Amino acid sequence: MQLMTFDPKDVSLADLNNHDGRSFAASGKRRFMCPFSLDCLGKSVKNEHRSLTVDTQTGQFYCHRCTAGKGSLLNEFKTHNPKREWLPPDEYRAMKKTEKAAAAQHARERKQREAEETLDAIGKARKMYEEALSLDVSEAKPGVDYLRSRGLGPLFSLLSGVRFHPTWYGRGPALVFPMRRNEAIVAADARYIDPAMTLKCQAVGPKRLGVFATVEAFRQPWAVIVESPIDALSLAEAAVPAIAVCGVQRNTIGQLEWLSSMFAGKPVWLGFDADDAGEETAHAIAPAFAAYGSRVLQLRPPKQAGIKDWNDLICAADHRVLMEVVYHAIEPDRLPLLSHQAGMNPQ
Ligand SMILES: [Zn+2]
Repeated sequence: MQLMTFDPKDVSLADLNNHDGRSFAASGKRRFMCPFSLDCLGKSVKNEHRSLTVDTQTGQFYCHRCTAGKGSLLNEFKTHNPKREWLPPDEYRAMKKTEKAAAAQHARERKQREAEETLDAIGKARKMYEEALSLDVSEAKPGVDYLRSRGLGPLFSLLSGVRFHPTWYGRGPALVFPMRRNEAIVAADARYIDPAMTLKCQAVGPKRLGVFATVEAFRQPWAVIVESPIDALSLAEAAVPAIAVCGVQRNTIGQLEWLSSMFAGKPVWLGFDADDAGEETAHAIAPAFAAYGSRVLQLRPPKQAGIKDWNDLICAADHRVLMEVVYHAIEPDRLPLLSHQAGMNPQ
């Protein structure tokens, strides 16, 4: 009988199968007759002599009798697991553990850094917002005039914290809308009012974290959600407090979970623009509120020539028409509008 030993550095599972076709599986591993030393090869073919354990998940193998295989990998596993080729199993595990700890530490540091950056950005937003002027001072007149040109009186804007900045970012006069998370301001979205400027809006702070809410909007037994602050103010003008999400899309809606939970179980009306983009936003946002048990309904601006959003409507008609449209849309549910607007409720 010719005895031939294999080299543990160059052996495949196929070689072991050829060598010992009657190997068996135990505890999730394969047990073979060991082909690596003359001593092991001299043993009779019996299960208790199958001293070579092979882990067919990792490619590691080891002979309990002659210790061959320690630190080696089966050929099949070398290409896709190169690091294991030269590391014994315990050292490999230690290396993996170190790698994992380093990655976790790295993630913690990144999160910490991001949190600090967000706090800085919020601080900057609050400072710039504070520097803007209240709408009831005479220097804010260009802002008030702009609101009037959009069919909006200054009252609801003033009460909702809208301000005027004569040179926002040093560029030009702008209306400044506070973006709140619950009651706290986290950002400000500004709209330049000079029609000659190509740049229309410029925000400061992490505006995805907050919303623009008109006065009392957070305290209603329902929510009306729209796209832009001007739309929200148009609805406020018709005694419907509203919330503007300002560019929130499918990928950022998770940031507004606090808003969904604020209106958990209450009806939510989505009043986005009467176009494809508005439809898309409504479909992206609806599940976030539905997840908190809200019945989500569409509140559409009426399909009329030249009317795309709530501000178009208030400009084309007046606030009484807008009131009627909104009231008509939500009347079947007998929802109270503003509590102090009792006269608007049916019966
Ligand atoms: Zn052996």
